[in-house]
Amino acid sequence: MEKAPLGNTDLKVTRLGFGGIPIQTVAGREEALAVVRHAADRGINFFDTARGYTISEEIIGEALEAHRDQYIIATKTPSRDVDGVARDFQTSLSKLRTSYIDLYQFHNVMDEESLTKILAPNGPLEYLQMEQRRGRLRYIGITSHRLETIIKAASTGRFATVQFPFNYIEKAAAEELYPLAHRLGLGVIVMKPLAGGVIRNANASIRWVLSQPISVAIPGMASVTEVDANLAAAAAGAPGPDELADLERDLREIGPTFCRRCGYCMPCPEGIQTNFIASSELFFKRSGWGRLTKAHLQTFDKGLDCQACKTCEGRCPYGLPLSEMVPAISRRMLDHINELGLKPER
Ligand code: SF4
Ligand code: SF4
Repeated sequence: MEKAPLGNTDLKVTRLGFGGIPIQTVAGREEALAVVRHAADRGINFFDTARGYTISEEIIGEALEAHRDQYIIATKTPSRDVDGVARDFQTSLSKLRTSYIDLYQFHNVMDEESLTKILAPNGPLEYLQMEQRRGRLRYIGITSHRLETIIKAASTGRFATVQFPFNYIEKAAAEELYPLAHRLGLGVIVMKPLAGGVIRNANASIRWVLSQPISVAIPGMASVTEVDANLAAAAAGAPGPDELADLERDLREIGPTFCRRCGYCMPCPEGIQTNFIASSELFFKRSGWGRLTKAHLQTFDKGLDCQACKTCEGRCPYGLPLSEMVPAISRRMLDHINELGLKPER
């Protein structure tokens, strides 16, 4: 499979990588291991996971352990202080069954305050640089859903890679982030190349993303069939007119209510977690309904209190009709939980 340099690093990644979120939802450990091994056997060499993806690190670590040096493993920490990052890093090494990690990323950095903590003298970034000197880490990256934050992070020149959502519905990264990353020699990792699964023609979506100036796209894969389908798309080249028409239709029909998880709509004067609710159906569908907690139920209950003041709508750069969406999604989530008889984990 075609490989590309990951920015100025010495890593050569297959342009189709393996996104480690949906592997959490596969029923049965052996089945999950088989999916990862199939992806590796078929030539994918870049595997992205995170501390926050429950068993994903464990599954990827076990599946790749026998031929560790042939693969590039990226994972992430949600921590923003040295103790937390040190603990997470050690746990990742252990769960991934490896003596080194290729790329350790600060996960979903959403505001300037978090970025400042990460970059502080003797802070988390310097801790990871020490792990680089010890030979336990090769490169440090950052991920976000908020464009202004990741642009700011990229501009510091202190990260080797940036990871941000990019697909036919969410193209904003191409305007400023990608030119900046290319100028600075940063690797560009695309999360959510299928918009979290909402783009209906997955083949067209992968083909379009891979035709853009990116290093690697990491669709989540939860079955051998999905691995094969993504590989076929990656081999097919840029989309033709029919595929582009499908993508245009999704942009028209899905784009107007598609939440990009950027958080600009917050805070809500009623204390409603608008951004979480707006993206929740997709999140739980991808990462597993079993992740619902009692706190989430309260969140959706609270969503029913929306007063339709439209404060959040005025802030959402994508013009989402949140005063309608928030109570409607909250109701659907509560009904869904009820219908499925799902029990919260905690
Ligand atoms: S419209 Fe509803 S969710 Fe949005 S800010 Fe007002 S009360 Fe909160
Ligand atoms: S509702 Fe709009 S502002 Fe809020 S997280 Fe989603 S896309 Fe961003």
